[in-house]
Amino acid sequence: MSENCVFCKIASGEIPCDRVYSDDYVLAFNDLTPKAPTHILVIPKRHVANLAEAEETDRELLGRLLLACGDVAARAGIDQTGYRVVTNSGADGGQSVGHLHFHILGGRPLAWPPG
Ligand code: AMP
Repeated sequence: MSENCVFCKIASGEIPCDRVYSDDYVLAFNDLTPKAPTHILVIPKRHVANLAEAEETDRELLGRLLLACGDVAARAGIDQTGYRVVTNSGADGGQSVGHLHFHILGGRPLAWPPG
């Protein structure tokens, strides 16, 4: 747990969330300010800051997170219509919460490239 990390507090239950999936390693919940009809965040329960800070010891966890993204998208019913998985890393990436998270966006056609 990293002090003052909002997603660590969500993972521990200190801050509530609109949970859609949880297991021993991964938590998924609806984004507070959705950017698409489906906008779910998938996070590790253990604190990892972002992809830039991920290490070899996080290899298995990263695999779990991506597999969870696919499962969560299927549960949300957007696996056939399609969706996007995004992780923002660092300032230029637009990361605003310093705890690794994958955005699952879907439910409408998404523009490319992002801004
Ligand atoms: P990023 O800008 O990539 O770091 O994404 C952070 C995301 O977290 C944004 O889409 C926010 O809307 C979302 N967010 C921030 N706080 C909460 C919260 N307490 N519950 C759910 N989503 C949140």
